[in-house]
Amino acid sequence: MTLRLYNTMTREVGDFVPLTPGRVSLYTCGPTIWNFAHIGNFRTFLFEDLLRRWLEASGFDVFHIMNLTDVDDRTIQAALKAGVTLREHVEPYAQAFFADRDYLRIRSAHAYPRATQFIAPMISLVESLLAKGVAYRGDDGSVYFAIARFPEYGRLSQLDQRELRSGASGRVSSDEYAKEDARDFVLWKAAQPDDEAVGAAWDAPFGRGRPGWHLECSAMALDLVREKWGEDVLDIHCGAVDLIFPHHEDEIAQSCAHTGKPDFARVWMHAEFLNVRGTKMSKRFGNYTTARDLQEDGTDAAALRLFFFQTHYRQKLDLNDESLGAATSALRRLGDFAARLATGPGTVSGAVGEGATAELEGAAKQLREQFAAGLDDDLNAPRALAALFDFVTAGNRALDRGAAACAPARDAFDWATGILDILPTAREADAGLATWVEERIQARKAARQARNFAEADAIRDELAAKGVTLEDGPGGTKWRAG
Ligand code: AMP
Ligand code: ZN
Repeated sequence: MTLRLYNTMTREVGDFVPLTPGRVSLYTCGPTIWNFAHIGNFRTFLFEDLLRRWLEASGFDVFHIMNLTDVDDRTIQAALKAGVTLREHVEPYAQAFFADRDYLRIRSAHAYPRATQFIAPMISLVESLLAKGVAYRGDDGSVYFAIARFPEYGRLSQLDQRELRSGASGRVSSDEYAKEDARDFVLWKAAQPDDEAVGAAWDAPFGRGRPGWHLECSAMALDLVREKWGEDVLDIHCGAVDLIFPHHEDEIAQSCAHTGKPDFARVWMHAEFLNVRGTKMSKRFGNYTTARDLQEDGTDAAALRLFFFQTHYRQKLDLNDESLGAATSALRRLGDFAARLATGPGTVSGAVGEGATAELEGAAKQLREQFAAGLDDDLNAPRALAALFDFVTAGNRALDRGAAACAPARDAFDWATGILDILPTAREADAGLATWVEERIQARKAARQARNFAEADAIRDELAAKGVTLEDGPGGTKWRAG
């Protein structure tokens, strides 16, 4: 099987072929660190985490870059309001983002470039665009990208001219008269008193100012992949759907006008929103939950991962208490099965046990195949999860029939749950309980063999006090917790 991905550029699912065999550069637009990220942002980051993990599991050497936007209107306004410098304001939010990332078990990117640390490459990029004649200095001292001089503009978003115009002016209205064309977007904003007040202005040959948001991603992505692999095209570029236009459209215009390459990224992937009662989760609407809110409520990060992965990344997802609750129950089922599989009866006696073990091995093989087929199909996590839960059902049945918790079953289960990273956090505690239960069962068996029934009953009661019930059958003694 080959990995197939939906490419927003072509609006089709196609075979994934990286620029250089065996390795993948992955650029994911990161958070704006003016405040805490909400779990809508993290839905996108978790989709990207799964993509990264699946690429790695598929054998690719992945170079993952996630930028932190530390200079833009929001960060500057927030710093002004707090009466501190830009740098002082954003630092705690950068640290909070890393803490939330760790709580949600998101793998660390290889680079977290911050816009303010890449001012020199941004200035070079603007100079290159000015030299090529696709950028110009407006009457207000800002530098703009001239869309009319880049005929491919609009390829990604496929919007018509009218929509492009309204999109551009919706973001930047005050500079309407400084631009040659209402669709043009800013590359470098001339310094304003607010910018100076918080330390968000830099000298440049074309005037003192600060980078535009779109410019930040192009400059950092190009700088880092060139340094890493000497390339100027990304393999995969991700974000949520709201970034298709204008952000990614503008990134393409800047980057391709500079490199002369037809593409800035070979594949563009966009995640759908996390909604709350049909409305996008957003700071602006006040309908948001942060990762730390969930953490304080005692939500297992694995439950949130499971909840998000139950819906395909290109489908909208509505957050509500019931669905998160259902994910928590499903998580418990996984945890119980993990504990059972970790210890299992471990003994096969007779044909029944051997048949059941063969059944378990067959189910494990099927899990590997179907899980991979699901993720290879445009990262269809719901399909992969269905394969995993089918395995839990088949596995429980086989273990009931006396199957040995064999290595192929354990390995396949660990492999699949490891990629999704969705085992309950208390897994160690569960495994500890299972070890103790197995030891007690052996002690009870020994007591019974010695015809010390009082001792055997006492052990049964001891287990019952911990919520563990025993069932004696032909395959040995089975147990259940909770
Ligand atoms: P921001 O911090 O606003 O720059 O956003 C960081 C990332 O989160 C971007 O890729 C956004 O498109 C994405 N995002 C924002 N809101 C949501 C949402 N409700 N659901 C999914 N992704 C979102
Ligand atoms: Zn970006």
